[in-house]
Amino acid sequence: MTFTVHGLAVSRGIAIGRAVIVASSRIDVAHYFVKPEQVEGEITRLRDARKAVVEEVHKVQKNLHELDPADAHPELSALLDVHLMLLQDEQLRSGVKTWIVDRHYNAEWALTTQLEVIARQFDEMEDPYLRERKADLEQVVERMLRVMRGAGSPVAAPPSGPAKKQDKALLDPTVDVPLVLIAHDLSPADMLQFKQSVFAGFVTDVGGKTSHTAIVARSMDIPAVVGARTASHLIIQDDWVIIDGDQGVVVIDPSPVLLAEYGAKQRLGELERERLSRLKNTPAVTLDGQRIELLANIEQPQDTAAALNAGAVGVGLFRTEFLFMGRSGKLPDEEEQFQAYRRAVEGMQGLPVTIRTVDVGADKPLDRTAARAGEDHLNPALGLRAIRWSLSEPAMFLAQLRAILRAAAFGPIHLLIPMLAHASEIRQTLALIDRAREQLTASATEYGPVRLGAMIEIPAAALTIPMFLRHFDFLSIGTNDLIQYTLAIDRADEAVAHLYNPVHPAVLHLLASTIAQCRAQGKGVSVCGEMAGDVAMTRLLIGLGLRSFSMHPAQILAVKQQILRCDTSKLGAWAQSVLSAEDPAALMSD
Ligand code: PEP
Ligand code: MG
Repeated sequence: MTFTVHGLAVSRGIAIGRAVIVASSRIDVAHYFVKPEQVEGEITRLRDARKAVVEEVHKVQKNLHELDPADAHPELSALLDVHLMLLQDEQLRSGVKTWIVDRHYNAEWALTTQLEVIARQFDEMEDPYLRERKADLEQVVERMLRVMRGAGSPVAAPPSGPAKKQDKALLDPTVDVPLVLIAHDLSPADMLQFKQSVFAGFVTDVGGKTSHTAIVARSMDIPAVVGARTASHLIIQDDWVIIDGDQGVVVIDPSPVLLAEYGAKQRLGELERERLSRLKNTPAVTLDGQRIELLANIEQPQDTAAALNAGAVGVGLFRTEFLFMGRSGKLPDEEEQFQAYRRAVEGMQGLPVTIRTVDVGADKPLDRTAARAGEDHLNPALGLRAIRWSLSEPAMFLAQLRAILRAAAFGPIHLLIPMLAHASEIRQTLALIDRAREQLTASATEYGPVRLGAMIEIPAAALTIPMFLRHFDFLSIGTNDLIQYTLAIDRADEAVAHLYNPVHPAVLHLLASTIAQCRAQGKGVSVCGEMAGDVAMTRLLIGLGLRSFSMHPAQILAVKQQILRCDTSKLGAWAQSVLSAEDPAALMSD
């Protein structure tokens, strides 16, 4: 029976495919397709893992008995019997095999998929004793995964890069059945991992439109809906699902009529993309001859290919924190970072690259489990994030600064600092940049010049622009956080997503005055928050005087199309009327 779930539209387009439900705790399990000739090997790997776990359990049973033969720990012994029974469970064994044989999932993916299927059945059981057996099943599967992890994967993981049709055709025998990922929650690091995966779309129960999870989904340029609340409970493994990333709607078990309707929409979207691709080499110039700079936001050095492909004239924001995430606390050292920044700079072939120093914290934890124990009551968005964290870890920060300065010897780099608000933070940051240069000089290490920029993303910063202009060469407005902090709306919380309003008069005033003050002093200013890539905002931002936009590569051509239709001489007065309106949104379509 067809039904729909509503969430927040975060990444455009339509995806139609079968659901793969992934439990948040098992997101780091590898998901890839194996070749037909590797199927047998995967089944053997599973069989070996099961055998190893059975032996492990037998050993524990034996030890129990030997340790204390008088008291054979009847409860523990019974529990181990349950584990042995689950390991032989026919539904688990045959189900896993089916996912490998029919769908060519790798062994770990097949195992966790079948676990989800059976776990749902446990959830629905009336008998509390039987319901609790779900935890035992999870433990058994976890043990098998651990064994497989220890043994390593004999099958090569798929080629890196977003799952493209042609990649899938190489690997996926079921190429006609795209897969869409359904999860309760995905961290930004999880999303990044899925960038190299096979999924054609994403749905999560939680998350806001400008949460970092949504941002990575957008950078992958595949349809995504977040904040769909109960989607991961309502949808079951292998359901047919339509994700409408434009409207924020998920259709489950669609009727043939709906499938045809969305299929037609999907083809229209593809045609529109094809049409836009012709603008790649067209300069972004308005009708009255004003040149607009269109830059790319990237998360990884390899994203520079997409940036160039979209016709970006540089990188306006390299979110370096993605190099730091999901590494179990082991941060990248100076050399590893230097190589990454150098790759980004060389990838842009002489065009400037704006590298932002690490911005972890808030909804970008270093690791899924990195939330500090006992601090659940704190609000991480107001806590030790971005430059605050960097200044509290000077050795880590200095290593990053040295890596960036060294990469600047290979091409033009703009060094951007996130979340500054205080004069003392500016002073400390500048002093550390000087120290990093001194250290490199002292060790006779080559480095290059950088232009220095500050992010304006805290209202306190937007209200003290002259101080920033005294110390920095350019400013970059982070509207995602500027809106969050101006309106006191957690950007990752779907419960207040309706209040997240980019055209609230307060936000527009901060934006307008920042742009005007930079222009008056001849300093560069750009917007690198999600607002820059939203075509509904292009005219307004140009009317407010903005001439530099930084966004996901996939958004560049649509924004360029808007720019080609703009006449800046007419937009100024209109933008001022929007700015002074009580309800600016009402004037946006004038
Ligand atoms: C912003 O806040 O607008 C921004 C670009 O930074 P981030 O989204 O990474 O916080
Ligand atoms: Mg920010």
